[in-house]
Amino acid sequence: MANVRQYNEIMGSLPAGVALVAISKNKTTDEILEVYAENQRLFGENKVQELVPKYEALPKDISWHFVGHLQSNKVKYIAPFIDLIHSVDSLKLIQTINKEAQKNNRIIPILLQIYIADEQTKFGLDYNEALEILQSGILKTFTHIEIHGLMGMATFTDDLRKVREEFKGLSNFFRKVKKDFFFDSDKFKILSMGMTDDYHIAIEEGSNLVRIGSAVFGSRLH
Ligand SMILES: *Cc1c(COP(=O)(O)O)cnc(C)c1O
Repeated sequence: MANVRQYNEIMGSLPAGVALVAISKNKTTDEILEVYAENQRLFGENKVQELVPKYEALPKDISWHFVGHLQSNKVKYIAPFIDLIHSVDSLKLIQTINKEAQKNNRIIPILLQIYIADEQTKFGLDYNEALEILQSGILKTFTHIEIHGLMGMATFTDDLRKVREEFKGLSNFFRKVKKDFFFDSDKFKILSMGMTDDYHIAIEEGSNLVRIGSAVFGSRLH
């Protein structure tokens, strides 16, 4: 069962301008529908093979976000319907998304995932890799993607000062990238940071899209 009471508490506490994507990985379509019934329309998944059947089974006014590591050979399965891919971490993946978007006659919004954690297990571009891609100008050649912002995941730790520093760093980088590369775009405006355990800090540091799973759906399965 989804934790509808807690979901509504979180929604009531979000500052204006901050949106919530409910991360429904490992959750059933019935659990998703409980949260949908509270008017939640943004849902996120981290596995293609889990997302596609849920997309097919659930109401079509759900806006689906992809938040997990995405292999190039699986982009084609989500390209027809995905509304935002948070986890874009290579030029190769950008090229593939652009190609599959074109085949579907769509423009797919993406976020560049930036590696801010002090852990080997997380994916993402480091700050220099992201700058190289942005400075190369190559993004302008892709006609079927739009860069809507950046995403990051902090280190999994009790050290909240460290988590805050990582979010602060990404927030500063976001503003710099906006100023240097997207000053003439009104599309580049999403900073996706914060999950169940750290979303308060993420919002204080400038996040405007939090990705919350456990607090909405109850503890995740391991
Ligand atoms: C699972 C997941 C979340 C949500 O995590 P919770 O701690 O359950 O809120 C957010 N972002 C990504 C990329 C995830 O994989």
